[in-house]
Amino acid sequence: MYILLMGPPGAGKGTQAEKLVDSYKIPHISTGDMFRAAVKQGTELGKEAKRYMDAGGLVPDVVTIGIVREGLSKPECAKGFILDGFPRTEEQAVALDGILNDLGIKLTGVVNIVVPDGELVARVTGRRICKACGATYHVSFNPTKVDGVCDKCSGSLYQRDDDKEETVKNRLKAYHSQTEPLIEYYKKQGVYLEIDGTQAIDKVYADVKASLEKRAGR
Ligand SMILES: [Zn+2]
Repeated sequence: MYILLMGPPGAGKGTQAEKLVDSYKIPHISTGDMFRAAVKQGTELGKEAKRYMDAGGLVPDVVTIGIVREGLSKPECAKGFILDGFPRTEEQAVALDGILNDLGIKLTGVVNIVVPDGELVARVTGRRICKACGATYHVSFNPTKVDGVCDKCSGSLYQRDDDKEETVKNRLKAYHSQTEPLIEYYKKQGVYLEIDGTQAIDKVYADVKASLEKRAGR
C-alpha cells in the first residue's frame, strides 16, 4: 500500500493515518518528520535545509524534493507508506512521480478526506485545550462539565491562535488554492480517491480502506 494522504486542517487526517498504520503496518511519514530526520542524521540535504530554516526562510523545492527522495528510499518504506504533507504543488507532484518511478513504486491511491469548509471551521474553532495538562475538548462535540474548566485537572482552557476563526479561514483558503490542481493531476492518473469526511470516524475509515483495497485489487 503506497498511500498519499490529503485533507484540509480539521478533517481528521491524523486519526485516519493512525488507523492505516495499524491495519497495514506501514510507516506514516510527513515531510516534517523527514526534515527532522535528515537534519538529525546530518545528511548533506539535511544540513542545507537547516541553513534555510535557521535563517527563517523557506526551504527551496530542490532541497525538499531531495529529502523526500532520501526518506522514501529507506528500507522501511519499501513495502508501503502513508505520505502526508507532500506534494503541495503540481511541480512537487511531478517530482514525486519521478522519485516513485526510480524506486519502481506505483501509488495505490491518493486519499482526499473531504469536509465542507463550514464544518471544518466549526470543528477547529470549537477546540479548547487545558493549560495545565494539555487535554483537548470541543465546545460542542466534547464539552467540559464546567465551562472553561478541565474535567481532569480543573485547569483553565484556552484556544490556540491557530484555531481562531480568521486563521482557520486563511489556512483553508491557502489549502484549497494549493490542492485544487493536485486533485486534477491525480484524477488524470486514475488514483484519486475522495472520501466523505463528515461521517463518523469509523465509517470514514471503512470507506478509506475499502477504496484503497479496491484499487489494490484485494
Ligand atoms: Zn487539565
